[in-house]
Amino acid sequence: MNIEMERRAIECLKAFEPHDEQGYYLCYSGGKDGDTVRLLAQLAGVAHQCKHNLTTADAPETVYYIRDTIGKENIISPALSIWQLIVKKGIPPSRKVRYCCSELKEIGGKGQVKITGVRKAESKSRRALQELVTISGAPKHTVKAAEGLSVSYRISRRNGILLDNTNDRSRRLVAARYKSCSVAINPISDWEESDVWQFLHHYGCKSNPLYQCGFKRIGCVGCPLGGFKNMKREFEYYPKFYENYIKTFDRMIAERARRGQETSKVWADGEAVMRWWLGGELLNLPVEIAHNLAV
Ligand code: SF4
Repeated sequence: MNIEMERRAIECLKAFEPHDEQGYYLCYSGGKDGDTVRLLAQLAGVAHQCKHNLTTADAPETVYYIRDTIGKENIISPALSIWQLIVKKGIPPSRKVRYCCSELKEIGGKGQVKITGVRKAESKSRRALQELVTISGAPKHTVKAAEGLSVSYRISRRNGILLDNTNDRSRRLVAARYKSCSVAINPISDWEESDVWQFLHHYGCKSNPLYQCGFKRIGCVGCPLGGFKNMKREFEYYPKFYENYIKTFDRMIAERARRGQETSKVWADGEAVMRWWLGGELLNLPVEIAHNLAV
């Protein structure tokens, strides 16, 4: 295990610990990165609330694992389920139109400093948009405050203010902005996947049982961010979710028609939307499931 990386992550959590009644808001995903920051926060001894926001498309094993790990009182249900949200938005979530994470997963912790398990190694976009500290919202005010404190920062293409150190000036900026902005401390932003597994093994954390079933990422079943291959694999594992999405797309098409929104041949019905969503082909599901697809 990389002791130095662990030490730096713990120092980072200690450095930005908010000195208020609530402490950090730890965004717990139920995946390996979530477990890593959960354990790091315990090792650092910082005050924190460990919370999971349900999306309603979470795999059952993930929900059970989270319930057993952080307690059901720390699981928060959304105002709208993902099924209701898709109908309301009139479009399935996708890599380009990714409304669901912000409405379902990133809703808690207002006015608190958040801890996340974001790692830059996960994707190009994370590398571009995330740092050890990411401050979002009210960028003009944050830039003004950063200039006033002579903080070294850069601005992401989405106007996030990114800090890569824990020095006193950065700490003062975080303390000054977290009540009015979204401030995320990402203590494992520079960790590779192998660092995460070594850390978890060292501390005896087996993590979500789905990893032992061959899952590479833990999120919603059928999450479009995982790519077509992963979506298909997850739907083969959870055919009921596949069925639910098709029924939801049928309701979405009906709602689009009610609003007078255009619906092309590509989106003729729920199955057609699913075909489009999966990159051009439907899955061969067991007959009894296929027969139940009508809304
Ligand atoms: S994990 Fe994927 S499907 Fe779930 S809320 Fe986030 S983007 Fe949407």
